[in-house]
Amino acid sequence: MNEYRYARIPETGERITHGEGVIQVPDRPIIPFVEGDGIGPDIWKATKHVVDSAVREAYGGKRSLAWMEVYAGQKAHEKTGEWLPEETFHAMREFKVGLKGPLTTPIGGGIRSLNVTIRKILDLYSCIRPVRWIEGVPSPMKDPGRLDVVIFRENTEDVYAGIEWASGTPEAEKVRRFLVDEMGAQIREGSGIGIKPMSPFGTKRHVAAAIQYALDRGLSKLTLVHKGNIMKFTEGAFADWGYEVARERFPDQTIPESRVWEGEDPAGRVVIGDRIADAMFQQVLLRPDEYELLVTPNLNGDYLSDACAAQVGGLGMAPGANIGDEVAVFEATHGTAPKYAGQDKVNPGSLILSAGMLLEHIGWGEAARLIDKGLEGAVRARTVTYDLERQMEGATTVGTFRFGEEIVRNM
Ligand code: NAP
Repeated sequence: MNEYRYARIPETGERITHGEGVIQVPDRPIIPFVEGDGIGPDIWKATKHVVDSAVREAYGGKRSLAWMEVYAGQKAHEKTGEWLPEETFHAMREFKVGLKGPLTTPIGGGIRSLNVTIRKILDLYSCIRPVRWIEGVPSPMKDPGRLDVVIFRENTEDVYAGIEWASGTPEAEKVRRFLVDEMGAQIREGSGIGIKPMSPFGTKRHVAAAIQYALDRGLSKLTLVHKGNIMKFTEGAFADWGYEVARERFPDQTIPESRVWEGEDPAGRVVIGDRIADAMFQQVLLRPDEYELLVTPNLNGDYLSDACAAQVGGLGMAPGANIGDEVAVFEATHGTAPKYAGQDKVNPGSLILSAGMLLEHIGWGEAARLIDKGLEGAVRARTVTYDLERQMEGATTVGTFRFGEEIVRNM
């Protein structure tokens, strides 16, 4: 039965499934994708070419991807009258993964960011942003190759939960009065008020996913980043719950950094440490090679991922993924850049590297590494899109699709 009104299930593909927390991937998995608005169609076309070529090159026809277009954003609105049709969520749930271009957030009409809505509805509670330097990419750092980290940011709680009241409203005054009269707080009249909820449930599932990620990839260190010296019961608790879940669920595979400092041999276990957020910002500048996986609450992670991406010169090419218990959605981290729409001009690197993360996620790491190799080769050859060209000496500008072809040529 085809439950899809607008999307079509590819006839020759098969479903990815999950059994007891383990992903099972057929040789021709169905991959739902949202092309995206603005520059979305341009970068999607280049991405599909690169990803299909990498898979063909890696597995010689034994494996391939069955792409299934699903709709969100402007294109969905034109086709279905809705910005986010229910069947798009259904497809990502049914097929376990999704690849997503950037989406316009419609102004007015009471719609929050489409990206936030997708994360919320699918309960994609961890955001993963790998940050590493691609040789040749212009960077403000003397030695950008020393930073090679993955940032694991909690996606659902913290001051980003969207619980706030504007200054001067009766709601803000009511909350203020309660806090002042009944809780003994001191809050100035007319304050705007926001709430920062952080729970053991939200933190532990996030940190556990990060530990599992470290184990799956053979990483040796995980750092909890928090501001617990000031916000003890939210940020401080984040670190406490992080250590707790490591003890409870991974007692033989993890060891706290404090025990290593006391002289114990980590013996192949993941060393769990923590750093205060402001110190962490210094550490990624001064001692970047001491860190591998940075696990953060929502706000710290937002700042830290962009700061790290800027360090390696890769803001426009940073990939990202949002993952939940079973579903994972991989997406370009930039927006729709509407002024460049349809010009075959912009850099497709972010969506291409996000697709590489998807391949890694389904266990097709050989193809993912070919994408990295191709991208590195294209940058080394200085045949790049305008955004890189304007920062590199002696480079040649090519369009979006041609850059994709250069990546394929360099695999
Ligand atoms: P933006 O679309 O990211 O564009 C800002 C600037 O970043 C562009 O003008 C361009 O810089 C550069 N840029 C972005 N993507 C690029 C690429 N692939 N290659 C080269 N350069 C690139 O941000 P915005 O203008 O603030 O937002 C536009 C729309 O996107 C809004 O509707 C916003 O809501 C939406 N948005 C969506 C997402 C998402 O879907 N994940 C994220 C952020 C924003 P130059 O002008 O210097 O060339």
